[in-house]
Amino acid sequence: MKEQSCELLEKCGFFQKYQNTKELACKGFMNRFCKGPEMNECKRKEYRQKYGFAPSDDMMPSGQMIR
Ligand code: SF4
Repeated sequence: MKEQSCELLEKCGFFQKYQNTKELACKGFMNRFCKGPEMNECKRKEYRQKYGFAPSDDMMPSGQMIR
């Protein structure tokens, strides 16, 4: 399968901030969204399109906030 990754990877605050985390939940999201089949369902992307600017770095692709 062709390797795929989100076109926003390099400017995405969530990805930049958490890409080296050991937190499994974050890693799971990255595998599903940032580098996986659900990249187009990402709520961060939706937010960006809706408001014209990026959400908090702590908003996950699911739309929930990291506490
Ligand atoms: S969190 Fe969403 S917008 Fe950011 S890199 Fe991952 S899939 Fe792309």
